[in-house]
Amino acid sequence: KPKVSNTMTLMFQDATEFYHHVLLTTNAGRRGLRYARKRKMSDEILEHFQIGYAPKQDNLLLTFLRGRNYKDDDLFRSGLFVESKDGRLFDRFRDRLMFPLGNESGYVIGFSGRRISNDKTVAKYINSPETKLFNKSKVLFNFSEAKKAAKQEGHLVLYEGYMDVISAYKAGVKSGIASMGTSLTDQQIYMLKRVTKNIIINYDGDEPGVHAEERATKMFQKAGGFNIGVVVLPDGLDPDEYVKKYGAEKYQDEVKGAFTATDFFLKRLAKKYNLNNDREKIVYLDEAVKVIAKLTNPVEQDLYIDKIAKAQGVSKASLKANLIKQQRRER
Ligand code: ATP
Ligand code: MN
Ligand code: MN
Ligand code: MN
Repeated sequence: KPKVSNTMTLMFQDATEFYHHVLLTTNAGRRGLRYARKRKMSDEILEHFQIGYAPKQDNLLLTFLRGRNYKDDDLFRSGLFVESKDGRLFDRFRDRLMFPLGNESGYVIGFSGRRISNDKTVAKYINSPETKLFNKSKVLFNFSEAKKAAKQEGHLVLYEGYMDVISAYKAGVKSGIASMGTSLTDQQIYMLKRVTKNIIINYDGDEPGVHAEERATKMFQKAGGFNIGVVVLPDGLDPDEYVKKYGAEKYQDEVKGAFTATDFFLKRLAKKYNLNNDREKIVYLDEAVKVIAKLTNPVEQDLYIDKIAKAQGVSKASLKANLIKQQRRER
């Protein structure tokens, strides 16, 4: 287990409580609360995820933590403050809805703050900077809670964003986690592997999201030993938007109906071709067989050969012949 400085752990705990308290009970927090309500976050949700609000003023957290006798050295090392040219500290997060980010045991080690104003000139999300404690490539939002839920649900569900994890939770999928906007890392995959081999990837339904699902699926396959499911939501919706539009039950059906990795790749592939054109169709069938050739389980191969034969109106025998040719080539 990595050694964690007690002071930092306490400071992040205090900061979490400060932001949360500001959001729920102060005048300065009303802007934040209005935004949270707009995003349909109930008190129960705000409580469960310990969501907070960083006020507009540039030194309220600083004043609060100094009042709790934290030393400037420690305050600076936390990444919660920025230093001006003349060496003074200011709150890094201002006028943002705050999502605490925990380590594997659930201790807060950093934050992500969402802009609540309409000012598009500032970043939509900003994160804590890298510190000794906070290594972005190993952080997964909601990981310690999702681990527990994974025991019931039998899987973990990977999302792009915090709001997706939260809306999925509301819809009854409590095993959601999100990487830090930065794309998935091998360290994160390693963390997941110790919890379950059943991973469902549910990124946004837009092109960047589905493209990132392709990349993530390949990473999980390369790591090996995973059962991968891929959810592709319609109309470019992200899970948060989907739950709001179609409700919990429909969303749960989407998760249950996740594609296998192979089905997902075959569907993606089919979209690249005009299958009413014979020349394109032949190229597609060749590429599809290449995808199937990568599978190691012959029963699985047979299943997909069968599916494609039926869907495209060609014989299984011819696809199989092609498959054998392909596999000889690969060896
Ligand atoms: P929201 O639902 O809050 O409006 P979104 O769905 O539009 O956000 P996406 O652009 O889909 O957000 O991004 C998904 C996730 O990627 C966010 O939850 C956040 O974790 C991360 N992210 C997005 N933009 C940034 C950024 N500028 N810096 C860091 N992380 C980001
Ligand atoms: Mn997105
Ligand atoms: Mn999104
Ligand atoms: Mn969203």
